[in-house]
Amino acid sequence: MDKGAALIVFSDLDGTLLDHDTYDWQPARPALDALERQGALLVLSSSKTASEMRVLQDAFGLQGAPAIVENGAGVIGLPESSRSVAEYDEIRAALGAVPGPLRELYRGFGDLTAEEVAEVTGLPLEGAVRAKERHFSEPGLWSGEDTEQQAFLAELNAHGVYGRFGGRFLTLSKGRTKADAMADVISAYRPDHTIALGDAPNDIEMLEAADHGVIVANPHSPDLPPLKGEHAGRIMRTTLPGPMGWSEAVLTLLTKLTPR
Ligand SMILES: [Mg+2]
Repeated sequence: MDKGAALIVFSDLDGTLLDHDTYDWQPARPALDALERQGALLVLSSSKTASEMRVLQDAFGLQGAPAIVENGAGVIGLPESSRSVAEYDEIRAALGAVPGPLRELYRGFGDLTAEEVAEVTGLPLEGAVRAKERHFSEPGLWSGEDTEQQAFLAELNAHGVYGRFGGRFLTLSKGRTKADAMADVISAYRPDHTIALGDAPNDIEMLEAADHGVIVANPHSPDLPPLKGEHAGRIMRTTLPGPMGWSEAVLTLLTKLTPR
C-alpha cells in the first residue's frame, strides 16, 4: 500500500486481533479480506519488538508496512525515522544509576538470559531471543512494595524514564504511548479515516486518538473504564471476544465509512 491510504486500521494483537488463548486470527479473515479489497492499510500495534513484529507481519502478508512496536515507543516501516535506537541504552543507563537496594527489586529483560525470558513469558526460546532484541523500552519483573516502587520510579523519572504496568511486567520507556506512534504513521500517510482496536489499558490513548475506536471484549481482563468519545458513539465495544469481535466491528464500521 502506497502513501495516501484512505483508511488506516491500527490494531493491538494479543486479545484483540489474536485470540487470547490460541493466538488464532482466522475468525477475523472476513474483515481482513474486506480491508484488503478496499486498499486499507493495517498497522499492527503491540508490545512486541521489531524483530518479533516482522515475523507476524510476514504471517499477515504485511511485509514492509509500518507497525508500532514496544507499546508505541517505536515505529518500524516508515520511510524516515528520527527515533533513536539508542533509547534502550539510555533506559539501561538510567537503571544503572538507581541505588542498589531499589535496583535489585527490578529484573529487566536485559538482566535476564534468553532462557529466563522464555520462562517468564512462556515464549519458545527463539521467541525469547527476539523479545530481548530491544530498541526503545525495557519490560521487567518488579518484586518490591508499592512505596519502594514509587521511589524506584522517581529515580528513573529524574532521567526522563517512565514506568507502566501491563500484564505482569513493569515496562520502562521514555513515555511514548501507542497514540504517539500512531501520530507518526498518520503524518506519513495522511489517511481520510482511522480505526483503532484494542483490549487493554495500554491501548486507551490509541483508541481515543482514532476517528473510530473499538474496545474488543476480553473475558480474561477487567473491563476498561468508559473512554473519552464513547458516550458520543465514537468508541464502541464488541460483545464477541478477540478476532470474532474484531471482524464484526470492522465490517460494521466499513459500511458506515464513505469516501470523503
Ligand atoms: Mg491486548
